[in-house]
Amino acid sequence: MSEEKPKIAFYWAASCGGCEIAILDLDAAVLDIAAKADIVFWPVAIDTKYKDIEAMPDGAIAVTFFNGGIRNSEAVHVAKVLRKKSKFLVAFGTCANSGGVPALANFHSKDSIFERVYQTTPSTTNPEGISPQTSYRTSEGEITIPKMFNGVYPLDAVVPVDYYLPGCPPTKKWILAGVTAFLTGELPPKGSVLAENFALCKECPREKPEKHSVKEFKRIWEIMDIDFDKCLLEQGIICLGPATRAGCEARCIKTNYPCRGCWGPAPNIIDMGAKMISVLGSILDEKDEAKMEQIIDEIPDLAGTMYEFTAGKSVFLRRKA
Ligand code: SF4
Ligand code: SF4
Repeated sequence: MSEEKPKIAFYWAASCGGCEIAILDLDAAVLDIAAKADIVFWPVAIDTKYKDIEAMPDGAIAVTFFNGGIRNSEAVHVAKVLRKKSKFLVAFGTCANSGGVPALANFHSKDSIFERVYQTTPSTTNPEGISPQTSYRTSEGEITIPKMFNGVYPLDAVVPVDYYLPGCPPTKKWILAGVTAFLTGELPPKGSVLAENFALCKECPREKPEKHSVKEFKRIWEIMDIDFDKCLLEQGIICLGPATRAGCEARCIKTNYPCRGCWGPAPNIIDMGAKMISVLGSILDEKDEAKMEQIIDEIPDLAGTMYEFTAGKSVFLRRKA
C-alpha cells in the first residue's frame, strides 16, 4: 500500500487574491507540490466545503498557508477550524502577517466606512439609509452574512501562528523554500519569519552614503534628474527600506520605485511606522526642530505612507477584533 501523502491547505481571508496568484505563478512547481502532497482545501481552486474540513481529525492537515487579514466573523471561524486541523499554521503574505493594504481602513471606523460606502458616495441613491444587516428574514427563510469587524487584524490576533511568510505577495523563492521545509521536515524554530533576517537596505544594490544629509522630501515625479544608482532616500524620496525586512531582492527599487514596506518590519522592529518616522528625523540635515517638523508635516499622507502594509499591527491603532 502506498504511503499517505501529507495534506496541505491554502485559505484566503481579507486579501486581494494576489497571494493566490503567487501560488499559481509557481508554474510547474505547483504540480510538483501536488505530486508530493494532497491539497485538501484551496477555495480559489478546488471545491472542498468548510464542513469537509470540520469533519477531519484534529491535526490531520500537515500545514495550512493562510493569506489575508481578519476582517469578519467568517475569517475567525475558518482560522479557528484550520488552526485545530493543522499541525502548522503559516501566516502567508503581508495581510495575514500585519493586515496589509486592507488594514489602512483601520484609520476609520466601521460605521464611518459604511456611511461613506452605502450613503454618501456621489453614485449612491439610498434615501432610506439602508446598511447591510448580518441577518434578514425572507419568506424562504433567514439569510445571514458574516459580521464585519471594526478593523482588519493579522492572523495571530485570533489564533496562534507557527510561521510567518511575508510579502505582497511572497515570491516564488520563499514560497518554495517554505513548502519544501514543511515537506522535508527541516523546519526553523517556531515563530520564525521565512525571509531574510536583515533590513532591505542591505539587499538593495544602490550606493549608500556614509551619512545621509537630506534637506527635504519629494515625490518621485518631482525630481527631474533622478540618479539611478544612488540611494533613493538620500535623494529625498521616501523609501521604507531601512525599516523593511529583506527578501524581495529589492524588486521595486530595481525598477526605480521606492520601497513601500510590503515585506513588513525588519527584525526587532515593533512598529514600522514609528521606526520610519525616527529614520526620517535622523537623516534630515536640519537642526531647527520647528523646521524639521514642518518638513515632516509636508509629506503627503504621512500615516498612510508609513503604515501602507502594517497598520494592522501598529501599536497606535486598533489591534483586537
Ligand atoms: S533607503 Fe531604499 S534606496 Fe536607499 S539603500 Fe535603502 S532600500 Fe535602497
Ligand atoms: S521593494 Fe519594498 S514594497 Fe517593493 S516588493 Fe520589496 S518590500 Fe515590497
